[in-house]
Amino acid sequence: MKEAVAKLFETAGRALSESLGDPKALERVRVRFLGRKGELGQLFKELANVAEQERREAGRVLNEAKVRLEALFSEALEKKRELEALRSQAIDVSVPGRRPPAGRLHPITQTATEICRIFNWLGFETVEGPEIELDYYNFEALNIPKDHPARDMQDTFYISDDVVLRTHTSPLQVRTMEKRKPPVRIIAPGRTYRRDSDVTHTPMFHQVEGLMVGEGISFGDLKGILTTFVHQMFGKTVALRFRPSFFPFTEPSAEVDIACVMCRGKGCRVCKSTGWLEILGSGMVDPAVYKHVDYDPEKITGFAFGMGIERIAMLIFGIDDLRLFFENDLRFLQQF
Ligand SMILES: [Zn+2]
Repeated sequence: MKEAVAKLFETAGRALSESLGDPKALERVRVRFLGRKGELGQLFKELANVAEQERREAGRVLNEAKVRLEALFSEALEKKRELEALRSQAIDVSVPGRRPPAGRLHPITQTATEICRIFNWLGFETVEGPEIELDYYNFEALNIPKDHPARDMQDTFYISDDVVLRTHTSPLQVRTMEKRKPPVRIIAPGRTYRRDSDVTHTPMFHQVEGLMVGEGISFGDLKGILTTFVHQMFGKTVALRFRPSFFPFTEPSAEVDIACVMCRGKGCRVCKSTGWLEILGSGMVDPAVYKHVDYDPEKITGFAFGMGIERIAMLIFGIDDLRLFFENDLRFLQQF
């Protein structure tokens, strides 16, 4: 019996050490040795076959073995728990980190940045100016005196008789030319304000104004620069046309249309069946403007242009409702 018990301990010890890494194996080993039909149980059954004078001693050996075996298992169980605890606290340095949610640039900002990038590439310098502007820079110096009918074209927010919220970024033309001698090549993005609010107008919107002034600048330069811009912005294959127009501070003036980006010129709701979309206004700077900045209109010529950034963004991203830009709905903004 002693030999059988010694053998039992040998196999149990080996099975235990093999089962430590596997949580289910330990329970299997426990059933195998200590279970109701386990190996120790079999030895107890064999007690009946042991000679009577030796049975007492054999029983004592078996009971002792049972206690030791149970202690062995609870020790193994404790070890297993420790291992599991260590494993659950372990830090896996190979797990990829969690990224904090990153913000994005607003589609208006993206569009303005792209417009400026193209003109910077063409040699234009980005300039900025105040949104609260003197009537002088917003109107008068741009050949729009107080009684001029062109003022009716722009519903202005007046702060006082002489101070307005700028209705366009054109004041940067005069502000820049006042400070610099020609040649001047600038692009001026920014917020502008008009008393207008409906499906296609918001009281605050964004504009980019451009100006190129120097000796011998012609309408051909205007066409070349703006054609290059349109091809960079909308693709080299897009058709464009220059259409005569009127602005108080340019003469002659032209609006630029591109072939409708939705229907490619066939005619649709967006282009009102014309096949064309107006994207910007332009023209040769009226000599009257140069008088305000002390340039010689006999020597100096140049052109200016302006465009609405919302309009360009709507065409590029295929957005059909202007108000989406200003609702700050994350579901909308996260698409860009
Ligand atoms: Zn169309």
